[in-house]
Amino acid sequence: MALTALTASAALFPFNRGAKQWNRLFPSSLRGLGTNLSFSAVSQRRGIGCIASGATGTNGGVAELSEADTESRLYSWPDNKKPRVCILGGGFGGLYTALRLESLVWPDDKKPQVLLVDQSEHFVFKPMLYELLSGEVDAWEIAPRFSDLLANTSVLFFQDMVKCVRPSDHLGLNGPSKYSCGGTVHLESGLLIEYDWLVLALGAEAKLDVVPGAAEYALPFSTLEDARKVDFWLKTLERRNFGQDSLIHVALVGCGYSGVELAATISERLQDRGVVHAINVETTICPTAPPGNREAALKVLSSRKVQLLLGYFVRSITKVGDAEASEKSTETGAVQGAIEQDVQKYVLELQPAERGLQSKTLEADLVLWTVGSKPLLPQLEPRDRPYDIPLNARGQAETDETLRVKGHPRIFALGDSSSLRDSSGRLLPATAQVAFQQADFAGWNLWAAINGRPLLPFRFQNLGEMMTLGRNDAAVTPSFIDGLTIEGPIGHTARKIAYLIRLPTDEHRLRVGISWLTKTAVDSVASIQSTLTKVLSGS
Ligand SMILES: Cc1cc2nc3c(=O)[nH]c(=O)nc-3n(C[C@H](O)[C@H](O)[C@H](O)COP(=O)(O)OP(=O)(O)OC[C@H]3O[C@@H](n4cnc5c(N)ncnc54)[C@H](O)[C@@H]3O)c2cc1C
Repeated sequence: MALTALTASAALFPFNRGAKQWNRLFPSSLRGLGTNLSFSAVSQRRGIGCIASGATGTNGGVAELSEADTESRLYSWPDNKKPRVCILGGGFGGLYTALRLESLVWPDDKKPQVLLVDQSEHFVFKPMLYELLSGEVDAWEIAPRFSDLLANTSVLFFQDMVKCVRPSDHLGLNGPSKYSCGGTVHLESGLLIEYDWLVLALGAEAKLDVVPGAAEYALPFSTLEDARKVDFWLKTLERRNFGQDSLIHVALVGCGYSGVELAATISERLQDRGVVHAINVETTICPTAPPGNREAALKVLSSRKVQLLLGYFVRSITKVGDAEASEKSTETGAVQGAIEQDVQKYVLELQPAERGLQSKTLEADLVLWTVGSKPLLPQLEPRDRPYDIPLNARGQAETDETLRVKGHPRIFALGDSSSLRDSSGRLLPATAQVAFQQADFAGWNLWAAINGRPLLPFRFQNLGEMMTLGRNDAAVTPSFIDGLTIEGPIGHTARKIAYLIRLPTDEHRLRVGISWLTKTAVDSVASIQSTLTKVLSGS
């Protein structure tokens, strides 16, 4: 994994193999000796050692991690006096918390050093991933690099994979001291990061292993890479079918928001060249959506080549034949390699979830999976000690109202991987809207915690729901006007403006705003030109 520090002052001290046993000699409080000595790392027995050099020393020494013998380095923060905030995950929860921390006014000695860790080099504005398939946006607009977004801030960024966390803030181990070490994060590159405050915001991943064949043959649509793979396969199928009569068949499992938005986007892209078969276990689409959004979506889907298979669940997915050369892999490299190969066909076995329906089989060229997700939380180490994070039945970290993980006063959790109920006891949905609002509170509450002020309880404000239905179509139901749904091109513009406002930084917002305006102007000129041409040619 690449490691990128955005401020030159961040010094990393590589681990020296000869120093394997140093952790035994200097078990803790290296930080107390000054930044330049805060460098040790360990690797011993069969596990990786973490040195936790907290000022309190209560958790100092070696923590064994259950990995093979691997080099580790202790990250040296630029300043050994200022609080250290480590944010895991740079999505709506993590990135926006970092930006919120940056925007707050701090007393000089208390402004924390903020380190953001993400496995990817891009922040991804997931609600607009569909527009990559329709060609309405360019990747840089909805997936800008962290290095660009954070260029004018003091936030540090590491591109690395989070492996595990060793918290030490539970059970009052660190006492009341404000800046004592809260624990250690271990990254895949071998880097160990001590923190005073930790923010967990790793989001969730698609869950495909629910029916036989789904993990092997269906593509999820949750990340930038997923969107690129789907786009790649659509292009491959479009190229294969060019000039032929046969239709492209796309099977889409799930008709929640994601499934319906994908169905609308892909059916518009394929037009008469393909059919989208959208399968849902419920007898309706988007069962939890406001009725206005659902009706608008049904209208659009029925006007396109979308076949709704409602009241069915998918029992299995198999591949037709066994042409090894065209084995579809979910690895990007393999996908690229398969470009000139024959495209496979898949068979979905559908079982009725309702009485009166017959079992079905469905043949498809491409299977997309939008059902279910799995919250992502780092593994906790060492495993044999009671450092656990309380999880709900879905596997999300349970937090109190201030967004701190229950039992862990130094760990905040937000977004898809966290669980909180609203005042009426309903679990908050895993949406960008929730994560975005939580980031505001997490940033503020970190400020309050560091400055010894009272923390605020998070209150979610539902602003309404939006969905894209194509290049010039959307449905927007604001929560503040009962019964109103804005549809069609106006809804589409409203949604785009709402998302433009939510892009992460002013600079990025401005660049994207100019780009979208330019594209709109070019599209308008093209449309006027084509109308004029038609009028003049009398057709
Ligand atoms: C296609 C799609 C459309 C959506 N549309 C909407 C919508 O219209 N409205 C809405 O409100 N919500 C929508 N959502 C949901 C919304 O995107 C999520 O709820 C939101 O992104 C959650 O924010 P988060 O910070 O918890 O996670 P994310 O935004 O997913 O960020 C998590 C980050 O953690 C990183 N990460 C994960 N694991 C590791 C690791 N081990 N090491 C390092 N980094 C890691 C990831 O790279 C990612 O950058 C949509 C989601 C998808 C997939």
